[in-house]
Amino acid sequence: MDDVARAELLMVPGPTPLGPATMAAGALPMLDERTEEFTKLLHFVTTGLQSLLQTRNDQLIFTASITGAMEAAVENLFSRGDCVLVASNGMFGRRWVDICGAHGLRVIEVNGPLGEATDMDAVGTAMRADSSIRAAICVHCETSTGVVADLRRFAEVADEVLTIVDCASSAGACELRTDDWGIDVVVGGPQKALQGPPGISFVSVSSRGWARHAEATLPRFYFDWSHALTVGGSGTQAAPWTPAVGVIRQFAAAIRELLAEPADTRTARHVALGKVARTGLKAMGLTLLTPDVEESCAVTVAFLPDGVKCRNVIDDVASAFGVRLAAGPTVDDKETIRMGHLGRVQMLDVVSAVAGLELVLDRATNRRTDGRAAAAALATVRALLEEPGADPIPGTPGGLA
Ligand SMILES: *Cc1c(COP(=O)(O)O)cnc(C)c1O
Repeated sequence: MDDVARAELLMVPGPTPLGPATMAAGALPMLDERTEEFTKLLHFVTTGLQSLLQTRNDQLIFTASITGAMEAAVENLFSRGDCVLVASNGMFGRRWVDICGAHGLRVIEVNGPLGEATDMDAVGTAMRADSSIRAAICVHCETSTGVVADLRRFAEVADEVLTIVDCASSAGACELRTDDWGIDVVVGGPQKALQGPPGISFVSVSSRGWARHAEATLPRFYFDWSHALTVGGSGTQAAPWTPAVGVIRQFAAAIRELLAEPADTRTARHVALGKVARTGLKAMGLTLLTPDVEESCAVTVAFLPDGVKCRNVIDDVASAFGVRLAAGPTVDDKETIRMGHLGRVQMLDVVSAVAGLELVLDRATNRRTDGRAAAAALATVRALLEEPGADPIPGTPGGLA
């Protein structure tokens, strides 16, 4: 029980803090999946996802972390030798490239500098230059750098082909209008901004996606989308294999909580969290890798001072203050640190993380900032509260529980 007593404040980009109802749902007695109760639960989760992703498209659930749903998307949509474009400017874009490569696809990468948003004009140019491209893949929030892509523009420039978007860390945080923007396939999972536990993943599939699925010939079995929708019979959506009953039940509890917060409020809250984080990190004298723009609302990455080891910083902040930060990518031999501020996170959580990091960096670099960064973060909170129309305060659902 030590682990329970020592629950840390998870300021990492997944897994993120669970709400009390979601935690409690994990302690319920086991449930047979061939029951009306479970069918209802699954239905609640899939319709809840439709609402969260703003789509009428089908939602399929897999027992696998999000990477499983990424691989499933490739297996279910393509045939060997197909050509896909990947807008890739970070670790997760790279993962899509690797998965496509592992399945024998031809990949055209549109790379941007790390920490910069993908140039959608370049995507458009690449699309026009090669008529064999059958699909375009984009990571909405590149969790390794905090960069958020302009998905609306992406869907416009890639309109001619199937569009696939990795919304692992953006769904629940960033604005996401799947149907309005015309995105065919959305991949994600519970453990980032959707406030659920890790272990399952989902995909949202449009009619264009289903049509492509029908002609795709890559081998697939466990992750076959046709199974996912049709087994269970009579139009009821049931899981083909033993589903992660407990995780799905916890996800349902998280979705219930998410749906109580209007999408605009939720995005505004994340925008506010991002502002507080960036202000605090800059006031500490750190250079941001994440663009200093409102869109960067889920995770913020900053360069550490020369000679300071990320691993030590993370350990020290966790052991001294119970706040867990994450390592970021090393860029030109410079280490970075990542602060997740997505899901069930409040503004003062970000202030705490900023204060903890400031104290640890002060010690590591033998200087004294006297709380300058924490004060700047707090001043941003105050400014947000004083903004006209900031009533209610840009949402702190964690505070209500
Ligand atoms: C977390 C994440 C994934 C992969 O998630 P796993 O659950 O670890 O497999 C994929 N893409 C993005 C953008 C992510 O943030």
